[in-house]
Amino acid sequence: MMSFLRQISKRLLTACLPPERLLTRGGRSAAHERPRLALTFDDGPHPIHTPQLLDVLRSAHVCATFFVVGKDAEQHPDLIRRIVKEGHELGNHTWSHSEPSQTSPQHFLEETRRTDSLLQELTGTIPTAMRPPKGELNWTKLTGLWRQQKTVALWSADPRDYKMTSSEEMRAWSSAFLPADGDVLLFHDNHPWAATAIETMFRRGLFEKYQPVTVSVLTGRKAIV
Ligand SMILES: [Zn+2]
Repeated sequence: MMSFLRQISKRLLTACLPPERLLTRGGRSAAHERPRLALTFDDGPHPIHTPQLLDVLRSAHVCATFFVVGKDAEQHPDLIRRIVKEGHELGNHTWSHSEPSQTSPQHFLEETRRTDSLLQELTGTIPTAMRPPKGELNWTKLTGLWRQQKTVALWSADPRDYKMTSSEEMRAWSSAFLPADGDVLLFHDNHPWAATAIETMFRRGLFEKYQPVTVSVLTGRKAIV
């Protein structure tokens, strides 16, 4: 049951549901527009790697979506405010990043609510997008998130940066990666490699060919009020 979203059912659900319910990849951009991609960063904010990444994003003039862990957001409220001030979007990634197989739907949904309240307190806005740890959900958690008006945001491209051990590995991946229109890229800003990825893609001119957008631009959703 836990892995059902990662298997066939995930593909089925993604094909059947509108992206504002469940996002894996955004729809095609309009003919006159550049193809789009969404850069997403999970598991922060991190006191060292997140500011470095924000510096790189700023110099590349690209916006992104940060799926933050509530308890870390509570520790680094200034980073949360900086993320928003610099034009990025916040997403909810639970309060404690609890292991999906060990977390009841009730506890999971409570963690999501707690993170929402903190982010609302810090920024005045409740994020529309929620990314479950490891992308793992069961039906009760999924429908519970929908009742909280969430877009469940998964991803379509994963360099597995959490397994990388050097910036060379990330440079190699980012140099070779060919995005599809609407791709949602998954990185982690509690590791140093995300900044390397953005630098490498920027130098390749990827952000001239593709327009980096936030998750809510891909799904066409407005904030929850
Ligand atoms: Zn995570």
